Amino acid sequence: KEKKYDYLIVGAGLFGSVFAHEMTKHNKKCLVIDKREHLGGNVYCEQKEGINVHKYGAHIFHTNDKRIWDYVNQFATFNNYINSPLSLSKGKLYNLPFNMNTFYQLWGTKTPREAKEIIDGQIKEYGVKSPKNLEEQALSLIGKDIYETFIKEYTEKQWGTKATDLPAFIIKRLPVRYTYNNNYFNDIYQGIPIGGYNTIINGLLEGIETKTNIDFFEDRVALESLADKVVYTGKIDEFFDYKYGQLEYRSLRFEHELHDVENYQGNAVVNYNDSEYKFTRIIEHKHFEFGKQDKTIITREYPESWDRGKEAYYPINNDRNQDVFKKYKEESKKSKHVIFGGRLAEYRYYDMHQIIASSLTKVEEILKIEV
Ligand code: UDP
Repeated sequence: KEKKYDYLIVGAGLFGSVFAHEMTKHNKKCLVIDKREHLGGNVYCEQKEGINVHKYGAHIFHTNDKRIWDYVNQFATFNNYINSPLSLSKGKLYNLPFNMNTFYQLWGTKTPREAKEIIDGQIKEYGVKSPKNLEEQALSLIGKDIYETFIKEYTEKQWGTKATDLPAFIIKRLPVRYTYNNNYFNDIYQGIPIGGYNTIINGLLEGIETKTNIDFFEDRVALESLADKVVYTGKIDEFFDYKYGQLEYRSLRFEHELHDVENYQGNAVVNYNDSEYKFTRIIEHKHFEFGKQDKTIITREYPESWDRGKEAYYPINNDRNQDVFKKYKEESKKSKHVIFGGRLAEYRYYDMHQIIASSLTKVEEILKIEV
């Protein structure tokens, strides 16, 4: 018997939306469902006072991959926003990422040679050659002053765990530069879509059937029977009814606030690096789009522990969780009619460009087999 759809896509985030868009171009019939009341997953923005509010945390698009850059530019024009966060630590403001401006603010050093001398000296003094945790990694990469001013307390509130109990790889990607360059990312392409991320999602899903407020697990059998195949982008452990145990996450709480001033903090992102503040950063959304509105909306981001009722933001990639994930991953290979993709189904902390790439690759793989 013919099914009504080729694909039922569970989750309208970037993975599902790109998948639906590409398959529709190849004449497959798709239905996209999402349990939230809106499409777009965590890139969704809420319009308030003419400002696009990044409801699920700041999203700044960046990539080195021309193919992905061209792909998103089909749906929106990007502005020239460059992420240059500030850091407030122990009452002083600094530039991020760690660069010559930061070193000048910390030590008064003016040349790369002077800054390098201090950092190398601190690394040498510490003397650990094979770091076993985040603290050791940081101290052996950038020395004591930077670690204590910007990393230790921020990381401990972010993860709710001592820096000595965290894996080293979390901060391997923090860039250190001996130039006066405050651009947080090293990628060639960067920006915010003009009109907001919803423009991209609407473009991807144009002409495709979508349904919001639909919880897959509340009507699983009936929903699955609608389509030949299912694309599942939710939590992989939930799909298998937690049979190998529950995967753990770190959650976030966002405190949004409307202020009757044009400009609250003068920058889109200010990190709060010390433990005096319970939040890790304040986002001022209008600055992502150089907004000129009379009012402004800010968001304080508080890290939180996670349980099933909350949003799962960061996978906790320790050995226990990796072992559990491996079991689900093996199990998922047996479900031939289900495709698993995205941050929650792959239990990986993906950036937007990586999700788009992985969805495009998945579509290519499938179409190759079918031909
Ligand atoms: N980090 C830090 N200080 C900062 C920014 C980041 O110590 O000012 C560390 C922290 O451990 C964090 C990791 O670097 O978990 C990755 O931070 P990033 O801002 O790149 O990640 P995001 O949370 O924005 O995805």
